[in-house]
Amino acid sequence: MSGDDPGVADVRVAGCLFCRIVAGEIPSALVHDDELVIAIRDIAPRAPTHILLMPRRHIGSAADLTEADAPLLGRLFAVAAELARTEGIADGGYRLVSNVGRWGGQTVDHLHVHLMGGRSFTWPPG
Ligand code: 5GP
Ligand code: ZN
Repeated sequence: MSGDDPGVADVRVAGCLFCRIVAGEIPSALVHDDELVIAIRDIAPRAPTHILLMPRRHIGSAADLTEADAPLLGRLFAVAAELARTEGIADGGYRLVSNVGRWGGQTVDHLHVHLMGGRSFTWPPG
């Protein structure tokens, strides 16, 4: 990956698991792939549908987003809605969640949004 286009910069962080998945160095079950966003199936699904959407570019978490990331976020949420439809969970409803930091339950420090569906969820989460 060249990183020639700074608009979709391939900014990678050494040792970041999801940067390595984006780069194809670690295999994953890819369900969407474009110049801004990829989506993969979670390796340990907590729901019948459990997909992770993430920017190609390394962003640590939602806490690191700025207004300049609006196009990325628009794409990410549009892809989430499309995947919910193709996964057959759109009508029943689903959950989108992005954990931030240790108390938020974040275990991989590369921004990602969980798309979970196919069962009901409680509120608030544990
Ligand atoms: P977090 O805990 O940061 O909100 O979410 C990280 C998610 O990444 C977890 O749901 C975990 O199951 C998933 N995960 C961790 N390692 C891998 C991996 O190597 N491949 C895939 N596809 N998912 C992973
Ligand atoms: Zn990363």
